[in-house]
Amino acid sequence: MSVPERILIATSNPGKLRDFAGAALALGIRIQPVPNFSQLPTVVEDGLTFEANARKKAEAYSRAAIDEIVLADDSGLEVDALGGAPGVHSARYAADDPSQAGSNTDDEANNEKLMRNLKSVPAAQRTGRFVCVIAAARNGRTLAVFHGKAEGIILDARQGSNGFGYDPFFFFPQIQKTFAELNAEEKAKYSHRGAAFRSFLKWYAEI
Ligand code: IMP
Repeated sequence: MSVPERILIATSNPGKLRDFAGAALALGIRIQPVPNFSQLPTVVEDGLTFEANARKKAEAYSRAAIDEIVLADDSGLEVDALGGAPGVHSARYAADDPSQAGSNTDDEANNEKLMRNLKSVPAAQRTGRFVCVIAAARNGRTLAVFHGKAEGIILDARQGSNGFGYDPFFFFPQIQKTFAELNAEEKAKYSHRGAAFRSFLKWYAEI
């Protein structure tokens, strides 16, 4: 399979970069953020879907890396008992108005709100999934999008200290561990991001 030597990711989220690096490690692919990412104008994530936001980020940031394929990930946690929340608003769930783009809140606050809102929900009904959409763009145009999902259970207490975001509360039944109990390579095997990334690699090998 032909694989890229390196892949540029449009994110400043160290957790996402670490996940991509874990997914790429065995293939010898280098994962790098888009150069000067922190100096580029921030893209407002006001799309109504993961795909809309992923496309928007990939298109905007790929203009800063001429002729390179740039990947942008938009992702989040959908909890069934909360009608799919926090969903596209996962990064700013603890904000007074999570639908307001550009007001990201920290992982700790987001997890606290999640626990508060799930307090009276019994274990059997704490099902949910991580969702990831990766858009690949070049020179401002989306080339393709890739989807990944991971189904799990939301615990009522944290377990594990790796990962980021909601990882310590996301229990993956198949391996009886949370995503925060896995290293980056292990997480990539089961995660929404790993699945979407593998679809990207398959597409890349065929172009
Ligand atoms: P965005 O894609 O930058 O809008 O933010 C995604 C948000 O969803 C993160 O800030 C996390 O809160 C959550 N999230 C997405 N993927 C993961 C994951 O793999 N582990 C834990 N939390 C995640």
